[in-house]
Amino acid sequence: MKKDNFTLKFSLALLEKEPVTLEGVLPPEFLELDDPMLKVVSDITYRLEAAMVTGNVTVTGVLKCRIAGECGRCLEPVTRDIATRNLALFYDELGDAEELDVTDDVRSELLLEFPMNLLCSPDCKGLCPVCGANLNKKECGCDPDAASPDPSGNSLWNALDKLKLK
Ligand SMILES: [Zn+2]
Ligand SMILES: [Zn+2]
Repeated sequence: MKKDNFTLKFSLALLEKEPVTLEGVLPPEFLELDDPMLKVVSDITYRLEAAMVTGNVTVTGVLKCRIAGECGRCLEPVTRDIATRNLALFYDELGDAEELDVTDDVRSELLLEFPMNLLCSPDCKGLCPVCGANLNKKECGCDPDAASPDPSGNSLWNALDKLKLK
């Protein structure tokens, strides 16, 4: 598919007369997502409203899509619906262009909503460092200290205790 198909443009001639609404769907490729951990698994739906006031253009609206990946803690598959929040773009200095291209701006607005660290739930318990069990599903009863010798700095306190005893 040609990249031209992915552009989101408003005709400034139309905007000079009245507000313009653009809505439709774009393929996942629109986002040019370069992340091995996340995939866009739905089309991207958008609805954008542009209005011109005293020569400046304001664009509001919403873009939505669904993403999938694995939980950063327990590695279970996760899907999540993503939407822009309070999208509001402002354009001045339009010059004598015929069209206002908002493609890159709305793309980054949607990408901003992508999670840095996808989790199945905010309080996912993750995997047991000893046996690898998914701790959301069962308590394996392992002693976590056995796997990670010093996660909380306990050995420092132990060492200090020993010093005091002398
Ligand atoms: Zn998880
Ligand atoms: Zn375990």
